[in-house]
Amino acid sequence: MEFTTTHLTKIIKETSDSYSYIMEIPDGFTWVAGQHAAWQIPGFELDPEDRNTRVFTIASAPEDGYLMFTTRIAEKHTSLKEVLLNKIRPGDPVGIAQPLGTFALDPDHYRKTLIIAGGIGITPIRSLLRHYMDHPSEGHAITVLYSDDRGEFAYPDFWETLKKKVPSIDLRLISERDRFTGDTDAYAREHGETAEYLIAGSPGMNKAFTERLEKLGIPEGNIRTDVFLGY
Ligand SMILES: Cc1cc2nc3c(=O)[nH]c(=O)nc-3n(C[C@H](O)[C@H](O)[C@H](O)COP(=O)(O)OP(=O)(O)OC[C@H]3O[C@@H](n4cnc5c(N)ncnc54)[C@H](O)[C@@H]3O)c2cc1C
Repeated sequence: MEFTTTHLTKIIKETSDSYSYIMEIPDGFTWVAGQHAAWQIPGFELDPEDRNTRVFTIASAPEDGYLMFTTRIAEKHTSLKEVLLNKIRPGDPVGIAQPLGTFALDPDHYRKTLIIAGGIGITPIRSLLRHYMDHPSEGHAITVLYSDDRGEFAYPDFWETLKKKVPSIDLRLISERDRFTGDTDAYAREHGETAEYLIAGSPGMNKAFTERLEKLGIPEGNIRTDVFLGY
C-alpha cells in the first residue's frame, strides 16, 4: 500500500476519550466526504504484535481545507493508540493511503434523511454534513440522531455553525438509549420508505438498527451503513 506523507498540525481533545488529529492536505490529494483511508504513523516503537497503520474515516470534508481523523482511545488501548495519546506532536509526519468508500447522502432520490450515529461513528457524518453545509439541497430535510451513552459529544463548534448555516437541520444529541431507539422508531413510522436511513457505528449497533428498521418495514435499499470494524 502506498502512503502519501502529510504532517500533523493540531490535536484537539473532543471528549474524555476521543481526539481529533488535524493535518495538511498533501498536494494533489483528493477525497469525497464520507470516505475512509488507511493511515500510517511512522517513526515510533510499537509492541511487536502491533502495526503502525489503522483505517480511520476522514472526518473532515474537502471544504474544511485540512485532513482530520478522530479516534477513541479507551483506558486500555493498543501501542499505536498510546502513540496518538502521548507521543505524536504537531510537525510529525503521518501517511495517508488512497481514500475508499461510498458512504453518502442521496438527496437526489430522497427528500428526507435520517442519520443514526453512535459514539465515534459520528466521524463520517461530520464529513458528510460539513460538505452539505456548503452544498445544501433545497427542500431536503435531514434529521440527525447522534447518541453517546455518556452524553459526551464531539465537534461542539461544528454543530453550532451547522445549525446557523442549515437551520432546517433537526439535530438531536442523545444520551439515553431509549430515546435513541424511540426517536428512530417514531421517524421510521412517520416517514417509512420515503426517507433514506444512514447508520454509522460499531458492527453491533449497525446490525441492531438495521434489523429494527427492517422490522418497521423499511426496505433494505433505503438503509446504508458505515461499519467501524475494530470496536
Ligand atoms: C471503514 C472504517 C472506518 C473507521 N473509522 C474510524 C474512525 O473514524 N475512528 C476510529 O476511532 N476508528 C475507526 N475505525 C476503527 C479503527 O480502524 C480501529 O479498528 C479502532 O480504532 C480500534 O483501534 P485499535 O486496534 O488501536 O484498538 P483500541 O482502540 O486501542 O482498542 C479497541 C478495544 O479493545 C480494547 N483493548 C485494547 N487493548 C487492550 C488491552 N491490552 N487489554 C484490554 N482491552 C484492550 C480497548 O479498550 C477497546 O475497547 C474504522 C474502521 C473501519 C473499517
